[in-house]
Amino acid sequence: MSREYKNFIAGEWVDAASGERVENRNPADRDDLIGTFPKSGEAEVNAAVAAAREAYKKWRLVPAPIRGEILKKVGDIMTAHKEDIARVMTREMGKVLKETRGDTQEGIDTAYYAASETRRLFSHTTPSELPNKMNISFRMPIGVAGIITPWNFPMAIPTWKIFPALACGNTVVFKPASDTPATATTLVEILAEAGVPEGVVNIVHGSGSKVGTPLVAHPGVNVISFTGSSEAGKQIYSLAGSKLKRVSLELGGKNAVIVMPDADLDLALEGVLWGAFGTTGQRCTATSRLILHEAVHDKFVAMLVERANRLKVGNGLDESVEMGPCVNQGQLNVVEEYVQIGKGEGAQLVAGGSRLTGGAYDKGTFHQATIFTGVKPGMRLEQEEIFGPVLSVIKVQSFDEAVTVLNDTAYGLSSSIYTRDVNLAFKAVRDIECGITYVNGPTIGAEAHMPFGGMKETGNGHREGGWQVYEFFSETKTVYVDFSGKLQKAQIDTEQV
Ligand code: NAD
Repeated sequence: MSREYKNFIAGEWVDAASGERVENRNPADRDDLIGTFPKSGEAEVNAAVAAAREAYKKWRLVPAPIRGEILKKVGDIMTAHKEDIARVMTREMGKVLKETRGDTQEGIDTAYYAASETRRLFSHTTPSELPNKMNISFRMPIGVAGIITPWNFPMAIPTWKIFPALACGNTVVFKPASDTPATATTLVEILAEAGVPEGVVNIVHGSGSKVGTPLVAHPGVNVISFTGSSEAGKQIYSLAGSKLKRVSLELGGKNAVIVMPDADLDLALEGVLWGAFGTTGQRCTATSRLILHEAVHDKFVAMLVERANRLKVGNGLDESVEMGPCVNQGQLNVVEEYVQIGKGEGAQLVAGGSRLTGGAYDKGTFHQATIFTGVKPGMRLEQEEIFGPVLSVIKVQSFDEAVTVLNDTAYGLSSSIYTRDVNLAFKAVRDIECGITYVNGPTIGAEAHMPFGGMKETGNGHREGGWQVYEFFSETKTVYVDFSGKLQKAQIDTEQV
């Protein structure tokens, strides 16, 4: 069943002025048309920002716990529709139902967490250096937030940004990824149903260049939160930087798992398979590199290849399927390109390596779970983000070498070590240059109430999730109240006290 979707601006569902529409098709079955979406541009961005600015005048004054009540209702509605949301998400971006249910649950958790944060939003009260004077600081909203998101977590990532932005009293213009406009629309429908006033949340569908860039450039947008590729992130950062806007960037990764000889290999096997091939490897935290100690290398590779070859690849709506398609033809092409690069660099292909064809596979963009061994530090296969089901195995001789290899990329998002040695585990936690480190767990699996984000070229130092994102979406106001009834000069009159 296909629908004609619209933008949501100032509380109305409206078409784009161009009248042009873009199709959204299922990557597992291109005969399945989910809907068509407006091809918007600068005019729609301007209208949405104007609506958000107008709505900000009232929304910023709504007591935070009342804003929280609405977010709690959002969580309740999402819970009631969890299965429907998951099914549409699987249809539009391909990952299996188990994972799209998890993606939706992350949005639900984020809604309830945001609702609870509206009763905290803590700041500091400190002693003054002068008598009869009080020093207070508290959080203020910033204004209009421009939210730009990728397709791989089409519900969770927008909620990580939109809910805290709203909780802090900002209004929102949301530009979702072109591959996942239906899930994004559902989220906005739910926000409206829960009672978010008109103009407080607006959605504009369209491309990065036609909608994303004007949104970043718009003088009425005060803060930008972006998740996506490092390439787009750099463009956004320089454009927003030229206008001195606050920007949060969550970008690419080249995440690795270290497996030490003392590890529980069966446990590590489950973690590596889930990390590398869950979401068809299309997670920012996906396990892209496996750093194996030489003492367990051959045994673990044999275990891994045997399991990878048995992974059932297909349409994610089938509950027995373990890995869905690549999100689109472009992403499949990138995966194929990296398989050729890996072969050219001299790595050994030990599992997969090809797109899947024949029968139902011909209607989608499917690729085998793929493993290379003999990968050396510095190879492109080892350094560049692929965003597909390709795992590179690097053999090392020691823990120190493993950590050096793990750290030696431009990115620093997620990491993991499998070991039973508590000393090595804590050394890894200390020495790995990543925003996230798992001990005896896969590189994926963020929880809504913990900070999420990466070091180095994975971002610009901000964190999503947890309490930290509330700092990003608010300004600090410092207030001095002098109740001495006379002029007291800081730094000058202190000596007379
Ligand atoms: P992308 O950068 O192509 O697009 C992300 C969003 O930005 C889309 O909505 C797109 O339309 C928009 N966009 C693209 N160029 C833009 C520009 N110049 N100005 C404004 N907007 C622009 O990324 P994608 O293919 O959708 O997602 C995959 C990438 O996202 C991977 O690199 C992955 O690592 C990254 N990602 C990172 C995290 C994280 O938290 N670190 C999470 C998920 C995905």
